[in-house]
Amino acid sequence: MLELHCHTTFSDGTLTPTQLVQSALLAGVKALAITDHDTVAGWNEAIAAAAPHALEIVPGLELSTVHLGRSLHILGFYPDRDRLQAPLQERLAGRQRRAKKMVEKLAALGYPIELPSMSGEMAPGRPHIAAALIKAGYVKTAQEAFERWLGDQGSAYVPYEKFSAADGIQLLRRCGAVPVWAHPYLFRGSSVASVLPELLGAGLRGIEVYHPSHRPQQIEELLSLCRQHGLLITGGSDYHGPAPDLTGKHMGLNQLQVPLALLPPLQEQALQLRGFQPMM
Ligand code: AMP
Ligand code: ZN
Ligand code: FE
Ligand code: FE
Repeated sequence: MLELHCHTTFSDGTLTPTQLVQSALLAGVKALAITDHDTVAGWNEAIAAAAPHALEIVPGLELSTVHLGRSLHILGFYPDRDRLQAPLQERLAGRQRRAKKMVEKLAALGYPIELPSMSGEMAPGRPHIAAALIKAGYVKTAQEAFERWLGDQGSAYVPYEKFSAADGIQLLRRCGAVPVWAHPYLFRGSSVASVLPELLGAGLRGIEVYHPSHRPQQIEELLSLCRQHGLLITGGSDYHGPAPDLTGKHMGLNQLQVPLALLPPLQEQALQLRGFQPMM
């Protein structure tokens, strides 16, 4: 089956790309997207690990943007890596600065922690901070860390540096990627229906319909929006590793059983956006 949303150790996943590929093979996944937060550094290792097997790697990423003061995630599939390089460096540097600020806030609150060292192409996020809080013995679970300090209204929370959802979608389009709104019902800033027109105006091409956080009724509503606007349908488990992962929430690989038939339209769209004729 199809897995179009997964994280590795290059962002806040707990499996390396090689380990993720091995788990995906065991779970019966036939096509696996690597969609780390704001980085594409995991692709090469995943492609190399999958090469001997009947597993296709879909190159992707999950861009963090801010819309109406809340975080809004945009998945991008099949971007041109070279064109994405410089703008992503800026996003990653912003994530490093943000992580540092959150660590400083926690220290001021009386909870000093040390984050593991990370290379410049890795994306630090709140789950890493939650893990450090657990390691320091301040809390038992990531959930607790989010409830006490790291949630969007928490005392140690720092938003992403200014980068609008429209900017994110336009950046992906300039880089030849297919932009897809990730887990729309996790967005806390406004209703899905009221946000969608602006994202469509910026060049959105699809919606992540299948996600562990979406209820059946919400899936129906998203499917209807996709039909209405001619949008691609994608789905994935937003896998961050085997339980307990850094987010403290867990969904197994391939648990959503997303049909493989959703992949060819995505590939065709990617070719069209890059200015090629669709393959017959
Ligand atoms: P960041 O990109 O640094 O804002 O971190 C976002 C990540 O934190 C996402 O991958 C979520 O899975 C995780 N996350 C967000 N809110 C919570 C929460 N309340 N409890 C546990 N994990 C969360
Ligand atoms: Zn994540
Ligand atoms: Fe996300
Ligand atoms: Fe994700």
